[in-house]
Amino acid sequence: MTDRETSLLETVPDQLLIAGEWRDAADGATLDVRDPATGKVIRTVASAGVEDGRAALDAACEAFPAWAATPARERGEILRRAFDLLTERADDFALLMTLEMGKPLSGSQGEVTYGAEFLRWFSEEAARIQGRYGTNPEGTGRTIVSHHPVGPSYLITPWNFPLAMATRKIAPALAAGCTVVIKPASSTPLTTLAFAALMEEAGLPPGVLNVLTTSESRAVSEPIISDPRLRKLSFTGSTGVGSSLLEQAAPGILRTSMELGGNAPFVVFEDADLDAAVDGAMQAKFRNIGQACTSANRFIVHASVAHEFADRVTERVQAMTVGRGTEDGVEIGPLIDDDALDKVSRLVADAVDKGATLRTGGERLDRGGTFYAPTVLTDVPDGADLLAEEIFGPVLAMQTFDTEDQAVAMANDTEFGLVAYAYTESLARGQRIIDRLETGMLGLNVGVISNASAPFGGVKMSGLGREGGAEGIHEYLQTRYTMTPA
Ligand code: NAP
Repeated sequence: MTDRETSLLETVPDQLLIAGEWRDAADGATLDVRDPATGKVIRTVASAGVEDGRAALDAACEAFPAWAATPARERGEILRRAFDLLTERADDFALLMTLEMGKPLSGSQGEVTYGAEFLRWFSEEAARIQGRYGTNPEGTGRTIVSHHPVGPSYLITPWNFPLAMATRKIAPALAAGCTVVIKPASSTPLTTLAFAALMEEAGLPPGVLNVLTTSESRAVSEPIISDPRLRKLSFTGSTGVGSSLLEQAAPGILRTSMELGGNAPFVVFEDADLDAAVDGAMQAKFRNIGQACTSANRFIVHASVAHEFADRVTERVQAMTVGRGTEDGVEIGPLIDDDALDKVSRLVADAVDKGATLRTGGERLDRGGTFYAPTVLTDVPDGADLLAEEIFGPVLAMQTFDTEDQAVAMANDTEFGLVAYAYTESLARGQRIIDRLETGMLGLNVGVISNASAPFGGVKMSGLGREGGAEGIHEYLQTRYTMTPA
């Protein structure tokens, strides 16, 4: 640990933020945060219990009427100040994410830019919450459609993008006039705590943003979700947990947004620009060490270009630098924890057992942390587990196809539908693919699709609702229609 790392970690709050006060958990419980590159504890923070959860929701409920009544411009200006502060402190936030999550610094810096952009985007959207005024077709009445903040909201975020998954929810919620309680993942609470301190500095009133860090996620969340004062649950994480949260939300008919798992196909047609496809493949697969819901999970490559594509990606993968994310030039950091390492190892072993060819990698690396070698598998047989499950690691798994119909059928052969990638130089084929793929998002000749101005979200078991874009703020607004005489 360098002096800069140590002093940065000391600036991060280690308590819960409830009603504008930083406080310990009521029962004094704490939670250790580890650097996955070394396995060492880097900070210990408060671990909320049920009582703290209730206090955080109390605070959000109390702060709601005043925040909802705050002029939209004022809400937007606080978000805009937060954007400026985050941009000024980009290096600190990037380093913090690398320390608690392991991703290379270049990836963390990209995430700060992406995460900050939600603050700027929704600072602008706050002032554009528009309604509608009209006359009914019978000419007997006038209709007014208006949008209102949905109310106190509970936000649950995952560890893989500690900053951006938080700002993608917090910014639209606050812009809409909602108050929030956020619960970050237990492995990466530091970024959210540091961000909450920044929001205070930007002028956010007490109680509008409350933070619960906890190692008891289920126990703390259940009473919050079943509390009738809660009006919205927004979750990003695995499909299994999302499904169980939907069950908890059902009795109260709680409004939900669910950003869940993916199993993205990456289709390379015979008429693709292969240079672009190889570049896109490296981004779509290895960004964030393969631990992104948008990671390409299944490479589906036309048989006529499969050899060349496999040779070229293998060469690029063999040249990748693995190491602690803080080191210069590192492209692949550690996986988040031992469970992730076990899962990736199991999926690769299963594919090889069933007949896949291991072109490179395929092993854990003995470096003290949870490192897995970047891997390429070709000739992956139908029935390999990694075709059905999210790999969530640096493993590129490839199959081939002969016809467009076959490619589409293979791409759609999953219960998920978050994102798909397709490479073709044919406009006509591109247009057919837009219509035929079952997906919420499509990268057509691009390997990274995330952008604050676009509606991010999935179909099928990848979720409900959209984050970002003009759509994102409506997840936190409810529509009211008023009839008046003509
Ligand atoms: P996860 O295990 O589902 O956890 C996500 C969050 O939910 C964490 O804060 C976790 O807290 C919390 N949680 C877990 N069980 C809970 C319960 N019973 N009640 C309340 N909260 C609970 O997912 P993950 O491993 O952190 O994240 C990876 C998954 O997220 C992948 O499937 C990925 O595809 C998905 N993801 C989706 C998107 C998207 O936009 N669609 C974006 C990023 C990631 P603890 O840390 O304490 O367990």
